Amino acid sequence: MGRDAMAMAFVDLAAQQARLKPRLDAAIQRVLAHGRYVQGPEVAELEQRLAARVGVAHCIACGSGTAALQLAQMALDIGPGDEVIVPGFGFVASAESVALCGARPVYADIDPASLLLDPQGLETLITPRTRAIMPVSLFGQCADMEAIHDVAERHALTVIEDAAQSFGASRHGRASCGMSRVACTSFFPSKPLGCYGDGGALFTDDDALAACLRRLISHGDTGRYRHLQLGMNSRLDTLQAAILLVKLEAFDDEVARRQAIAERYNALLAELPLALPLRLSGNTSVYAQYTLQLEARDAVASRLHDAGIPTAIHYPRPLYCQPAVADPACRLSACKAACERVLSLPMHPYLEQGQQERVVEALGDALRGA
Ligand SMILES: *Cc1c(COP(=O)(O)O)cnc(C)c1O
Repeated sequence: MGRDAMAMAFVDLAAQQARLKPRLDAAIQRVLAHGRYVQGPEVAELEQRLAARVGVAHCIACGSGTAALQLAQMALDIGPGDEVIVPGFGFVASAESVALCGARPVYADIDPASLLLDPQGLETLITPRTRAIMPVSLFGQCADMEAIHDVAERHALTVIEDAAQSFGASRHGRASCGMSRVACTSFFPSKPLGCYGDGGALFTDDDALAACLRRLISHGDTGRYRHLQLGMNSRLDTLQAAILLVKLEAFDDEVARRQAIAERYNALLAELPLALPLRLSGNTSVYAQYTLQLEARDAVASRLHDAGIPTAIHYPRPLYCQPAVADPACRLSACKAACERVLSLPMHPYLEQGQQERVVEALGDALRGA
């Protein structure tokens, strides 16, 4: 029985594991043999490789993407009384990290076609309390970073890229994670570069900020049980670093596969009444998700479910409507419309052409109401 006849996965981590198994096993055994489970040599090696790949001076691995976002804001001394501008459409962690620092997330609308932070209108959100802008590189591609940096520079604000979904992407030849004062990514298992648990990393060219982040991931420790400032306990496990080093060897090939799969979806779906994912000019995407926009989304999703096609809704409600990070007065029309229209299709590097054809056929039937 081919994969095609088996239940289809939304993200197929088993196929990747089958490809890398002997190398993963060996890497895990090496860590068990040397026993340096926290801040072992694999962590430093991974940090070096990731920093070189992105083209920045420093990569600091940490416990999760969410922790990375929180650590970045702690290092920038963002706290009570401060505001950070975040898109109103996306995963909760972007806004949650602001609130965890005691600051207030201020929601910006998105560009309805790309679903990314819209630089138009950003300026109207800036107040004397604004400290930073956090563009989110949603679904695998960067927002219009030049326009966002222009606004930030005019108002002396810091840009923190939430690159949890875009490690490996680029914009006008520059790597995601390498365009802002500080950038944060995630190694959650289903991200384009994922480990086997939680993990994340921060990227910066700023030596002082990097040194501060190094302290913050270990209780603010300067190295001799002298704690300069409040920190966290948020290191990347050595085992996860070892796993990521193996996965990194296959990463370029996997990104190329994701891009080819996205192109094939684009071609197969071209005639259907829906909006394809829009890639901004100058961008490459790592297609963390392949997310369409369509009418009658819930009915279509439920027909796809009945046809055995897994889909997901990234994301069902605007962040300003999430109780944990709510802003009851906020209304953002493009965020609201996106939440009603988005539908993500199965996307992973090992999705086969026959599976994609099945998805597209079922989607065509679902759109016709069959
Ligand atoms: C996954 C994700 C995060 C959080 O990463 P974790 O490693 O799960 O904490 C933050 N922002 C975005 C946009 C994400 O997709």
